[in-house]
Amino acid sequence: MSDLIQSIRERYLSTLEKISDAANHVGRSAESVKLVVVTKAQPVEVARAAIEAGARYLGENYPEEGVAKLQLLREFSAVEWHMIGHVQSRKAQLVAGNFNYLHSLGSLKLAARLDRFCGEANRTLPVFLEFNVGGEESKAGWPAWDETRWPALVDELAKVIALPNLQVRGLMTMPPLGSTPDFSRPFFQRLRHLQGFLSSQFSQVRFDELSMGTSSDYEAAVQEGATLVRVGTAIVGARKYKTESL
Ligand SMILES: *Cc1c(COP(=O)(O)O)cnc(C)c1O
Repeated sequence: MSDLIQSIRERYLSTLEKISDAANHVGRSAESVKLVVVTKAQPVEVARAAIEAGARYLGENYPEEGVAKLQLLREFSAVEWHMIGHVQSRKAQLVAGNFNYLHSLGSLKLAARLDRFCGEANRTLPVFLEFNVGGEESKAGWPAWDETRWPALVDELAKVIALPNLQVRGLMTMPPLGSTPDFSRPFFQRLRHLQGFLSSQFSQVRFDELSMGTSSDYEAAVQEGATLVRVGTAIVGARKYKTESL
């Protein structure tokens, strides 16, 4: 095993162990949490090494970069590719045609375009609705920091849910950055409350998944109900290059 694979494997396994401890701590099973290894701004060799180290779910932020990697790594057919970054409308076709999941669906406009391209490609795309629970102006996602505004989101979300080629599976958030676990925790709790609210509004949809938590706060996220955590630097190290909007 190469040194690169070996070092990623050690960090991958220790992350899994911490996820397991955090889950057990709140009476959940470790199997209820998927570890998405974020390989954005890492060369394809790092993504390959992550797979060879055992990663099953890889996360990418930029459509072109992600597609280039997944095409080079097609031989690993069991790997799922998760788009976790902001997707511009003009990149909708690339995402619809190539990724297994989209974590960051934050507008009806993007949803409608994705649905159209999925229909043309005869695919269904599982998606998570992204919410801005921290109130930062620059953040993507539907505005959800103020609970009194949740009912106002329902009409638009109903239109997203009605799209035939997207399958809404849950919610995602990216809390304000630079955060410690205890700083992030109330944002994770808010997303979980929102999950309850949406479940009560849309009884036909199963909002089972919660995508939340990164290298700095994934254990808190798991304690607060995350079913997917998105961990990059803690497993594959510092990012290697700048990409379009890093
Ligand atoms: C980069 C990124 C991550 C991973 O962040 P790390 O700090 O490297 O763990 C997770 N989620 C999103 C949306 C990201 O953009």
